[in-house]
Amino acid sequence: MYEQSDAKRLWNRRVRTLVPYVPGEQPREPNLVKLNTNENPYPPAPGVQEAIRRFPIDRLRLYPDPASADLRRSLAEYYGVSHEQIFVGNGSDEILAFAFQAFFNPLSADSAPVDPSECIVFPDITYSFYPVYARMYDIPYREVPLDDRFRIQLQLMELPSAGIVLANPNAPTGIPVDLEALRRLAASDRNRLLLVDEAYIDFGGQSAVDLLPEFDNILIVQTLSKSRSLAGLRVGFAIGAPALIDALERVRDSFNSYTLDRLAQVAAEAAFASSAWFEKTRAQIIATREQTRAELAELGFLVLPSVANFLFVHHPARSGSELYQALRDRSILVRHFNRPRISDFLRVTIGTDQEMARLLTALRAILTPPMETE
Ligand SMILES: *Cc1c(COP(=O)(O)O)cnc(C)c1O
Repeated sequence: MYEQSDAKRLWNRRVRTLVPYVPGEQPREPNLVKLNTNENPYPPAPGVQEAIRRFPIDRLRLYPDPASADLRRSLAEYYGVSHEQIFVGNGSDEILAFAFQAFFNPLSADSAPVDPSECIVFPDITYSFYPVYARMYDIPYREVPLDDRFRIQLQLMELPSAGIVLANPNAPTGIPVDLEALRRLAASDRNRLLLVDEAYIDFGGQSAVDLLPEFDNILIVQTLSKSRSLAGLRVGFAIGAPALIDALERVRDSFNSYTLDRLAQVAAEAAFASSAWFEKTRAQIIATREQTRAELAELGFLVLPSVANFLFVHHPARSGSELYQALRDRSILVRHFNRPRISDFLRVTIGTDQEMARLLTALRAILTPPMETE
């Protein structure tokens, strides 16, 4: 037997120094209430099942359309833009990675001291993949602190920089920024890209799609993983000026021309064909969120004003890790980030009403000390 670790000598410098993103757990435990990765508790639209059932299996012999033309046309029609303004990818994470490579410059080889204006910026508390991509591609970055109420400090984000990345609504806070603020940010420097990650936009935020006619320096990234119940299909898309889409295609075609398989292309198209299911399930999730917010507040939680499919909550009497573990012991899985400023918060995905009822029952038991017995 060889020593597994010996082969680490073959790692290159990049792999030796990587700090990979850590996704939420996907345990296989039965009866687990899984509220840790912001998946949708409802099934995908019925048309998706139909499209997959009818898929002619023989077609899998052939490579898929690298341009995903049919899917892009459907998305273009849905969002009222041209198909040249749409890029599709293997989950929005892939598109974000392509965007970092397409629009932000790596450190120059002579590695002169970096001026703050040569850094890209994103909030200090946001989707933790952004710093991972920046390090992976050697892009210098600066983290702009959220204010004491966990809001993005837009006036600081406007300062000179090489690019702006923000999630709207932000993750894991769920707090949105309004269109007027995004307009000011985009207008503050039209030679700088504003990358807006709208993974949770369908649950209540204002999409920057309406700003696209005014700005060719905004790129919007969305996903089918959350509001369309298709995290397992791996489909995301970007909307922006045709030249921005062209850049993403150049990066993709220097990496893998076939990022979306045939099944993913037809199933994703079907997800957008039936809006009734989408409207019904998202309205239900929003209603459950508001109900859960009220009940958590009654239990003494501080609940940030989220417009996403999750709530970011803190209880003054219990630490984040203590609550996380007490819920885990009762087969309820939420997300806890062991990071400065937010280690006493939990991020709770909005599930079905029944799942939220189980969460609240568990929290009541955890927070109420047992009665003294003689
Ligand atoms: C879930 C999420 C994504 C990733 O979505 P995929 O399309 O599943 O890769 C991107 N950004 C944010 C902020 C997310 O929460």
